[in-house]
Amino acid sequence: MMLEVRKLSAGYGRVQVLWDIDLSVGEREIVALVGPNGAGKTTLLRTLSGVIRMRGGTAEFRGRSLGDRSIEQIVDLGIAHVPEGRRLFAGLTVRANLLLGGWRTKNTDLDRVIELFPPLEPRLEQVAGSLSGGEQQMCAIARGLMSQPELMMIDELSLGLAPLIVDEILARLPDIAAAGTSVLLVEQDVDAALSVAERAYVLETGQVTLSGKAGVLLADKRIQESYLGIA
Ligand code: ATP
Repeated sequence: MMLEVRKLSAGYGRVQVLWDIDLSVGEREIVALVGPNGAGKTTLLRTLSGVIRMRGGTAEFRGRSLGDRSIEQIVDLGIAHVPEGRRLFAGLTVRANLLLGGWRTKNTDLDRVIELFPPLEPRLEQVAGSLSGGEQQMCAIARGLMSQPELMMIDELSLGLAPLIVDEILARLPDIAAAGTSVLLVEQDVDAALSVAERAYVLETGQVTLSGKAGVLLADKRIQESYLGIA
């Protein structure tokens, strides 16, 4: 597996948030991480991208430990993080945001990300803060792709977006994965996430409570009752 996480624990100050997380992501794979608010999904992504330190366990990317690396070193290994809320530079143009994404890897080729997200093309010279929510999310994902990552972690892709827009953006993920960028997708919209992912993990109060093939989880009674509103 490309990413192998074993018995990972992490937290903030005295508060432990994650316990003994086991998770993996394979080559060209889309993996969903779902679960209720406050379960620790964002904390897990932040730990893997070096924003916060892991306290126990291991995380390896292509056999290299992530535990003692800086955020920049983790980007250089080929991991991109698209944070919750997109965090675009609102006053800069879409073009500038995208180029900043490619800065560390010296990638200036916008064609590929424009091909994936054509609505961005007529917006290149517009400031990112004036984009619609959906366009902002496209811009954030495209910016992440500009570093030509082998793994992209996307936090709450659907946040604040209409379902049709969410579907439109999710529909791009298989192309992104097929082109060599695996995706770890944190999502509140469990139905949408499990429809696009190959495998998924359910995180509840800091622990993985269920994992497996997305199709199997979609049919699981516990998932249907807790997350899909099917009684
Ligand atoms: P959401 O979907 O609401 O973002 P989540 O599953 O991503 O939920 P996290 O944001 O990882 O959950 O939060 C997990 C727990 O960690 C929560 O109890 C939260 O209050 C706590 N937490 C998050 N950030 C911090 C912080 N900077 N300092 C202290 N506690 C934090």
